[in-house]
Amino acid sequence: MRIAIIGAGASGTITAINLLKKLQQPASIFLIEKRNEGLYRGAAYSSQLDYEPLNVYAGRMSLYNDNDDDFYNWILENKKSCEEITHESFVSRRWYGEYLETSIKDAVVKKQNGVLCETVSTATENIAKTPEGNYLLKQEDGREITADVVILATGNEKPADVISKEAIQVLGESYVSNPWNKNPLENISAEESVLLIGTGLTMVDHVVSLKKKNHTAKVFALSRNGLLPRPHKHSPAYKIEREISNESIEQLDANILEEVEKAKSQNLDWRSVIEALRPVTTKIWQALSDESKSAFLNKYRIYWDIHRHRMPPASHNEISELISENKFEILKGTITDVLKTENGFLVSYKDASDSNSVIVNRIINCTGPSGDYEKCDNPLFKNLLSKGWIKKDKHNIGIVTGAAGELIQQNGNVLENIFAVGPLRKAMEWESTAIREIRTQAEQVAIQIISQANAHA
Ligand SMILES: Cc1cc2nc3c(=O)[nH]c(=O)nc-3n(C[C@H](O)[C@H](O)[C@H](O)COP(=O)(O)OP(=O)(O)OC[C@H]3O[C@@H](n4cnc5c(N)ncnc54)[C@H](O)[C@@H]3O)c2cc1C
Repeated sequence: MRIAIIGAGASGTITAINLLKKLQQPASIFLIEKRNEGLYRGAAYSSQLDYEPLNVYAGRMSLYNDNDDDFYNWILENKKSCEEITHESFVSRRWYGEYLETSIKDAVVKKQNGVLCETVSTATENIAKTPEGNYLLKQEDGREITADVVILATGNEKPADVISKEAIQVLGESYVSNPWNKNPLENISAEESVLLIGTGLTMVDHVVSLKKKNHTAKVFALSRNGLLPRPHKHSPAYKIEREISNESIEQLDANILEEVEKAKSQNLDWRSVIEALRPVTTKIWQALSDESKSAFLNKYRIYWDIHRHRMPPASHNEISELISENKFEILKGTITDVLKTENGFLVSYKDASDSNSVIVNRIINCTGPSGDYEKCDNPLFKNLLSKGWIKKDKHNIGIVTGAAGELIQQNGNVLENIFAVGPLRKAMEWESTAIREIRTQAEQVAIQIISQANAHA
């Protein structure tokens, strides 16, 4: 069996590890990655910022569903820290990258039974079917790889630009469109003021990293709502007793708020309710009508995101301090214009009631991964879309996939033997980005591939 995994970030790497551990028959795994840096780490865990903590407790970042302590134990064995590391520490994302790399290397070394795993450093640009019914992957460097099964683990596409092409031209080198590419703060001098577009977790890391670099000029962050991710705080487990799927978005909102009140009466925090919703989030999402999904995306999404994707308490303290010292300010609105002036760039923005402007020297796009695969820079998606092999979802947040991550074509049929793992499955599963969701998908896809192969043997 020849298995090609496109993308060697966390999703592709964890899928390869599962295959290496579970395959009992000879196989060749091709792990294909287009980035030269950060192999096996992807965008999240190859960070070069001065401040880049995981946004999740160390005790919840294991690669394995059946061994929750794996990452925690790896830290204890491999890392020295002046602070005591507990299951609830927020350790470095770079450490997590090292953990991914050593885990796949260990899995390759330990594997026998004729299973080979080759890392291929080039982009997959297109996939074709061979007359024998296999897949032929066309690589950017001209190579071709034949595979019986393909896994798309292409992850987080760079954020879409939310300023005009003209504005991007005016800004030139002073604009960073992709904050996960190298270190976007590298060439910013301490006296240059910075505007970050977006007020989510990526923005937080950039603002605190600027502080760690002794940046002195003012930093701004702008988003439509100006809301920040809430901080983590330990809160014991809570059990939701009722069935809460299959309801309208308004009922769902009211039910969740009721659960929060119930949790409060048991001295529990809203965070316990969010954690309790985690195992049923996909079921709830899939049961919503298209109308409710649209309403969620337009009105409720931001509130879900800031409560579900929280920041470490240390980041919260740093941000609060910067705000109180007037070194950092959050602005509300959308950018309407960017003009070059003597002192920097005059950025005009407006919200529902007001128009305002600010002068800055640098702008960094921190608006989060793009789910519009038609507009993204990845030629693979343009090609698969034009062939009808992948289908955009109605809400433009991803592509249509089935229960096991199989691709659903534009004609409605399953594309045999191609699976997606990770953020690509967001449209169908809603929460499909964090390691806990990814590790489950990776394991299930590996089991599915192996059982299909056994059935045909
Ligand atoms: C800054 C940041 C911090 C995060 N922090 C956390 C955290 O603390 N905890 C947590 O659980 N989750 C976190 N996440 C969520 C994160 O999405 C997942 O944990 C995980 O890293 C996603 O991995 P991935 O492999 O799917 O995507 P990616 O990391 O984007 O990797 C996909 C890889 O595929 C490659 N690729 C794409 N197209 C092609 C092609 N055509 N050919 C070849 N290669 C290709 C890309 O170069 C890339 O390396 C974070 C995300 C970000 C962006």
